[in-house]
Amino acid sequence: MIKQTICQHLSAITELRTATEHVCEECVKTGASWVHLRTCQTCGTTLCCDSSPNKHATKHFHASHHPVVASAEPGERWLWCYADEQMVGY
Ligand SMILES: [Zn+2]
Ligand SMILES: [Zn+2]
Ligand SMILES: [Zn+2]
Repeated sequence: MIKQTICQHLSAITELRTATEHVCEECVKTGASWVHLRTCQTCGTTLCCDSSPNKHATKHFHASHHPVVASAEPGERWLWCYADEQMVGY
């Protein structure tokens, strides 16, 4: 086991917020396409990742300062903190 220091944002997550619909909530408004989805752990918004053309999850972090997202991809079980650039599995 690799021991690592987990940031305060990640360690504060007690209950996981999951995607209610498997769509990027910003891309669907404009008909844009996306690659992978992330769910904001502060407000529950599901947005597209950096591999997607619009990078809505990153834009959401910069606009709202909600630091932690969870992967909304089936089979992926991890959280990412944008503020500290740390990942943790669960
Ligand atoms: Zn953090
Ligand atoms: Zn998007
Ligand atoms: Zn948010």
